[in-house]
Amino acid sequence: MLSMKHVEEVRLSLDAAFKFRCHKEIGCFTKCCSNIDIMLTPYDIIRLKNRMGMSSGEFLDGHTYVEIDEKASHPFVFLKMNEDAEKKCPFVTSEGCNIYSDRPANCRYYPVGQASLKKMNQETSAPVTEEFYFFVKEPHCLGFNENADWTIKSWRDDQGVDVYDDMNRGWKDILFRRNLPGHSLDDKKQKAFYMACYDVDRFRRFVFESGFLDKFDIDEKRLEKLKNDDTEVMKLGFDYTKYIFMMEETLKLKS
Ligand code: SF4
Ligand code: SF4
Repeated sequence: MLSMKHVEEVRLSLDAAFKFRCHKEIGCFTKCCSNIDIMLTPYDIIRLKNRMGMSSGEFLDGHTYVEIDEKASHPFVFLKMNEDAEKKCPFVTSEGCNIYSDRPANCRYYPVGQASLKKMNQETSAPVTEEFYFFVKEPHCLGFNENADWTIKSWRDDQGVDVYDDMNRGWKDILFRRNLPGHSLDDKKQKAFYMACYDVDRFRRFVFESGFLDKFDIDEKRLEKLKNDDTEVMKLGFDYTKYIFMMEETLKLKS
């Protein structure tokens, strides 16, 4: 699953039609859930750590590994596979995915992939994000031989990816900064990025237990939400990352 080797180099729009069906009786059932690199988004991490009843730190330490992107120097988090010969996903069983309702965005999209480009609107000169899709066609996946009709849009709806895309939007904005020349992150900034974007429980402690609230002006309503709402902490993490990377004035300093 998700190997670039099997990515079709055709850009697809939301209307693109295809046939696909994945079900328990298919000969390749769960074959896509072994020996794969699943990059986790910040929202995936929240869903998974809550599903497993863990803190983000426990989840990240026990179930993930980090890779630093060579070009952009951003840290990316990947789900750790089992250390058996097949390198199975820790969540796969003979019955399928045992965390199905909280499965990561990449598993939801499969066999569709999504990519985004930042462009300049010719008329307004404002940056706009263009999203497009592609198929990942791996030889073991027999789903394309089945007879169920989809468009990319109806597939997205069926797999529930909208909420994941909405939640991760601020993080994706940060990833676009790789297009800026000479902006490689030093170790300190990589650590800040990792904490603020992936380790939500630690970032919450950082907000409430360091000098953060002496420095930044956070309104009462937001502050209240931050106490219990992981997605609110995640969004503040995106704002903080953009602020320290000097991308946007996303936070207001106290006067
Ligand atoms: S999380 Fe679920 S769907 Fe994704 S690889 Fe693991 S078992 Fe398969
Ligand atoms: S049809 Fe494709 S996605 Fe479904 S189980 Fe088989 S390999 Fe996985």
